[in-house]
Amino acid sequence: MHAISSTWDDVIPTDASVLDMMAGGFRSYACLCGQALTDYAAAQLHAIETAQCSVCLGRTRVSLAPGTEHGCGYCGGAGTRDAELAEQLARGAVEAAVDQHAFAQAVASFQGREFTKTEIHERLAGLVPEATTPQLAGRVGQLMRLFQRKGLIMQVSAPTGVDSNIVFYDNPRWQATTSSAEQ
Ligand SMILES: [Zn+2]
Ligand SMILES: [Zn+2]
Repeated sequence: MHAISSTWDDVIPTDASVLDMMAGGFRSYACLCGQALTDYAAAQLHAIETAQCSVCLGRTRVSLAPGTEHGCGYCGGAGTRDAELAEQLARGAVEAAVDQHAFAQAVASFQGREFTKTEIHERLAGLVPEATTPQLAGRVGQLMRLFQRKGLIMQVSAPTGVDSNIVFYDNPRWQATTSSAEQ
């Protein structure tokens, strides 16, 4: 039985970055079979060789910060390597169907009015009826970050809360910038 566990260190450095935490740092890993797992990479490898999801290590849930936990999106919460690979294929299909052009059209359909991520999601859902909500939401989030970096859309509402180094936005509103209208 290869039940892999992941335990947060008792003390997390105060300057620990979110990226380091997301990369699996500040934790110890162990498997019920007794194999030594020195770090996240070793735990991932052991998960793969025992047919478990390489992200949640078969636990079906992931923790990105001490005290928090959510369902693993990489295997759809199944915890198996098969489910992770199937999920990867499905994400590829969503990426192909919801491309930058489709996203730009959805943004343009608001004709300069403000929109939320949910509203964009609804407009694009018809393109990939077989996609699950988290799959499409992941793709929409990816394209929103890309379009924001390119300066084509901007956030027009303020964050609702700031907790240490993570900023929380409560479904913020967005708007196309003038440079997107010129395209
Ligand atoms: Zn094991
Ligand atoms: Zn998983």
